[in-house]
Amino acid sequence: MLYVIEPWAKDWVLIKNLQEEIEKQSNQTPVRNRRSLSWHNYEVYHSLEEIQDWMYRMNKTHRDLISMFSIGKSYEGRPLLVLKLGSKTRTNKKAVWIDCGIHAREWIGPAFCQWFVKEAIETYQRDPAMKQMLNQLYFYIMPVFNVDGYHYSWTDDRFWRKTRSKHSRFHCYGVDANRNWRVKWCESEPEVKAAALFIRQHRKQIKAYLSFHAYAQMLLYPYSYKYATIPNFNCVVSPQKVLHKCASGDLRDV
Ligand SMILES: [Zn+2]
Repeated sequence: MLYVIEPWAKDWVLIKNLQEEIEKQSNQTPVRNRRSLSWHNYEVYHSLEEIQDWMYRMNKTHRDLISMFSIGKSYEGRPLLVLKLGSKTRTNKKAVWIDCGIHAREWIGPAFCQWFVKEAIETYQRDPAMKQMLNQLYFYIMPVFNVDGYHYSWTDDRFWRKTRSKHSRFHCYGVDANRNWRVKWCESEPEVKAAALFIRQHRKQIKAYLSFHAYAQMLLYPYSYKYATIPNFNCVVSPQKVLHKCASGDLRDV
């Protein structure tokens, strides 16, 4: 007889010793480096400084596909760096915005953004699908959205999630940055303000917004604050359909 055990009906121990796992994350000695673009290890987590160094270097070494710029400054004055990825042969290309690390402790997000850029650069010449994507589109990639929070999650509190702004009225630090957009919230955070301004200024060009988080295996799309479906619901209703759309090469409608 087959029993279906509902996950919420029972306690599960997913990680036996969380502290041990946490200490491993920021103390990683790279065992293998086979998938790296030689000088950067894409299989370990990197501090903010290392990620920014990586961005500067990618910008310097891949001028045909990458350019870098800052969209503003964080609460603590750090630059908010974005990589523009895509071949520069055509003008007026449509674009996709990708951000990682809105929530400081979700380290796999920035790691994914770095991996995505590496994968794109590495496969551009030999993978026709990648070539078509980078030829027809720009990707605006912000590997660490919440720079102050990410830095703080390395130096002080591994489970820090919010930004690091100081709100004297509430005697606490930080705001949850993805509950700060001017949809139902007030855009109080300089990081959110800068990204929102950039996206608004490029609203004709940017056709998709993707934000990577951890952890769960879910595809979430607006709206979280009401039950109505979004206008292009059918297009994003399942990851399979999205992937199929991408794989079929129908990029003009993205
Ligand atoms: Zn998150």
